[in-house]
Parts: sequence; structure tokens; C-alpha cells
Amino acid sequence: MNPASLPKSPPPEPKDVHVLPGPTDGSAFTGAAMGQGNITEIHDTNPLDVTLPYHMQPRVEKATHDAQLQQFVNSATLSKDRARKRICLEAFGDNYNRMRELGGRIKQHTLDHLDYYLEQFVTNAAAAGAKVHFAETTDEANGICLDIARKCGAKLCVKSKSMVTEEMHLLPKLESIGVETVETDLGEFILQLDKDAPSHIVQPMIHKDRAATARAFTRELHVEYTEDPGKLCQIARNLLRNKYRQADMGICGGNFLIADTGTVVICTNEGNGRLCTSAPRVLVAFVGIEKLVPSLEHLGVLLKLLARSATGQPLTVYNHFMTGPRRPDEHDGPEEMHIILVDNGRVKTLKEETREMLRCIRCGACLNTCPVYRKIGGHAYGSVYSGPIGAILTPMLKGLGNYPDLPHASSLCGACYEACPVKINIPKFLIQLRRDQIKQKITRWPDRLIYRVWAATLRNSLTYRLGGWMQKWMFRLQARGNGSLGRAGSDPYASRGWLSDAPGPVKSWTRERDMPTPPARSFRQWWDEHEKDKKSKEA
Ligand code: SF4
Repeated sequence: MNPASLPKSPPPEPKDVHVLPGPTDGSAFTGAAMGQGNITEIHDTNPLDVTLPYHMQPRVEKATHDAQLQQFVNSATLSKDRARKRICLEAFGDNYNRMRELGGRIKQHTLDHLDYYLEQFVTNAAAAGAKVHFAETTDEANGICLDIARKCGAKLCVKSKSMVTEEMHLLPKLESIGVETVETDLGEFILQLDKDAPSHIVQPMIHKDRAATARAFTRELHVEYTEDPGKLCQIARNLLRNKYRQADMGICGGNFLIADTGTVVICTNEGNGRLCTSAPRVLVAFVGIEKLVPSLEHLGVLLKLLARSATGQPLTVYNHFMTGPRRPDEHDGPEEMHIILVDNGRVKTLKEETREMLRCIRCGACLNTCPVYRKIGGHAYGSVYSGPIGAILTPMLKGLGNYPDLPHASSLCGACYEACPVKINIPKFLIQLRRDQIKQKITRWPDRLIYRVWAATLRNSLTYRLGGWMQKWMFRLQARGNGSLGRAGSDPYASRGWLSDAPGPVKSWTRERDMPTPPARSFRQWWDEHEKDKKSKEA
């Protein structure tokens, strides 16, 4: 990929996303400058290596019958969701929405002028001594990394958590040339022992508990069985410390790229990122091109939003800024620093209608709040990015035809939009993708026919009423047959029955739960009668 291939934009106005200095409670952002505005434990293959086109139904079935998975995912996501709401309210109060608005505008502005900021970043990073590479595809990115590993004679590599490298399936490629690569984020380290894959952007092993960790440690590291979190951490720590000392190469991702300094920023809570990037002599950072921000002052806003939205913390524990390799007068840091800027479908998504999706700062708040994700977990999405953001990003990056079910893995309740710190309108994109599926004839013809009939019925008041009337009496007749009608009360108009085996397309809905029948008297009828009554009383 070459920055010249990006859509051209006029040079940005410096005041477009001006950030006011001020307190962290968001009170500075109220002024005019803001505008008014049953888990498989050991895997033979990576669970995210799926056959395309991917259909999620079998994994969804499995997940919805796995009480343990649901308990793990539900309790972890609920506690993070509550922590996010509490801390955002405490920190920003009534200005929370304005902070989200500002975060969204900073990211949108950068994406609108990505060619400009990318060029600025490349110039500044190169001036600081980093080697910047561009990769259009997964193969290109992996190829660059393997070349660097070969040239520096790497035998052991330590890696911190990075969603982009998950996208690349990098580890097997490094293994194929004889480079042992160790994941150092504790969650990722445990997943590596089980040959498992992350199921959440921020909490990769959300689908496992400490007993699973204890079993993995005993089986793979031959240590005494313990479920004590402190002891388990100490075991991992001792092992990883030696790996940091011996490693020739470090690999990391990047939460942000600062254009006007050429800096790569990584945010971690365990400190492993800092060791991975400063101990080995060669460092390779894989970063998606959408991670750019114009300057440090803009970064400040996003760091405040990221930590609070991801884990309910005021700030991530370690925020590590890397501008070029070690300088002659410095003791720590790599001798060589490579930055691989990855496209992998992002440039295609940069078109104006879908650009907003790339604002994502990977906080995971939309996953934590999503009722669908909580029920089925991350692996059911069949992709590195799961939950609401995965449901829109994966089809965009990997092809709508390859993931036809994902835009439908949502109840469109809007909770993801409310939670998103950069205000990505996820429900809007889900609907847009569903529309695109119809236009591109990815949706099967019987479904397309049903949608057409449905749309025609809704457009005309006569057919709408007729359709409603037919549906009502069909369901009520069936409820009368099963003897449930009238159970709810004595009023024949208000009485409702229950269907446990609805016909046609509603059948799968009633497989898991009963469905109430419509009442005999519709809201429209009630309204007409109510209005008539009112008028006769007034007369
Ligand atoms: S879409 Fe928004 S809420 Fe979801 S991970 Fe991205 S930034 Fe966070």
C-alpha cells in the first residue's frame, strides 16, 4: 500500500478538532469551542480459522446451550458495562455525550484527512529513526515481518497483545521459519497454551475461568495444580521474565499513532507491552492505518475515553510512547524499530458512507453492553472482531458475501451506539449492510421475496390493516387450539394467549420461548374508540 493510493482530501483546518486544555472531568468541553452540539479447552485448530462463507448458526446453537460460557461472558461483561457507566458519569457528568462527540470528531477528522496525516506520520517516524513499511494485504504484512526476522536471525520473539496480528494469523507464519513466539499478555498467554483464540477485544479469555487456567498451566508448564490467581500470575511472570531477556525480537500492535511526532502508543495494564518493546534488540509494530490521531492534545481526549470505556479505569496503567529506536545516549529500547502500516481492507472502507466505522478505538464497550454478544460469546462471530463492531467491520474488511449472517446478529436495540465513546452509529451500519445484501443478491431469493411482500404491505394502509388482521386471527386461532387463550383475563378483547409452536418464519423464535398472541382489539381500534368517546363527551 502506498499513501498516494488513499482518497485525496484538502489539507485539514487546524481548528477542526481543537481541544481545550482543562480538567479531566470534561467540564472544559462545555464552551463554544465544542459547538452545541461447554467450552472446548484444547483446540486442534484456531477457532477463528473458519471456512468461508461463514454461517454462524451451528456455533450460536452450541453457545446458547452452554450455560457455563454464558455465565462467564455475562458476569464479566456486565461488571465492565456497569463500571463504564459509573466512572463516565463520575468523570464527565452531563458532559459525557459532549466528550463522546469530541472523541468521534477527532477520529472522523483524522480519517477525512488520512492521506495528509499518514504522510506526516511517516515523515516524522522516519526522522526519528524508525523504518516504516506499508502492507496492503495480510500476506504482505506477514512477508515483511518474516524478512525482518530472517535478517536479524531471530530465534525467539516476545509479543504483546495486538488485534492486527490476530487478523494476520502471524504466529504460525513465524513458527514456520523457526521463530518461537511467546504471547506475553496474560490472557493471550493462557490462550496460547490451549491453542485457543481471543473471544473479546479487551478481555481475550473472557470465555475461560481460573480453573481452566490452572489446568492449562499444569498440563503445559508441568507445575503443581493451583487456582490461586496470585500464584498463577507468579508462575507466568517467572517464565515470561526469562523470555524477555532471551528474545531477539519484540512484536506489538499500536493503540494510536501520533502524526505530528511519529510516535506509536500502546496501552496495557500488565506492563508486558513495555518489556516486549524495550528489551529485544529489534521491534516490529503492526498498526492499522486508522489508528492515527493528529497530535498529543487529541490523544489525551481519546486516552480518557478508552480506559473508562474499556475497563472502567480512569487511565490504562501503562501508556507507552515510542518515537524511533533507542538513541545513542539511552540505555533501554530496541536498536531497530519497524512500523508496518496495515491496510487489509481499510482503504476500501474509507469511502464516505462507511468511513465512520474506522473511528473504532477497540475499547470493547459495545461488546460488553450487547445482549447478543452476552448470549453467544465471541467465537460465534467466526472472526477476530466480534460483537456489534465485529458485525459491521468483519463484512466490510473481509467481504459481505463471506459473512452473510453477521449484519443480522443484532436486535438493533441501540445499546452499542449509546456505549461507543467515539459515537459510531452501529445500528445504522447494520441496516445499511442488510440493505446491501439484498441489492447484491447475497440474501436468498425466498427471503428477498418475503421482504418485498412485507415492504409492499407496510406501504399501503389497507394491506397493512389486512395483514395485521390476518396475522392476529391466525395466531389467536392457534392459541385457542392449545387452550391458552383467555388465560390472561376475562375481557374477551384484551385476553391474550401464548404460542409455543408458531408457524412459518416465527417457528425458530418460539423454539426458545413462548410468544404472546396479539390482543383481539388492536391499539388502532382502541385509539379510534377512545377518540370517539372523547368527542361525544365534549359534544
Ligand atoms: S465500536 Fe465503539 S464501543 Fe465498540 S469497540 Fe469500537 S470504539 Fe469501542
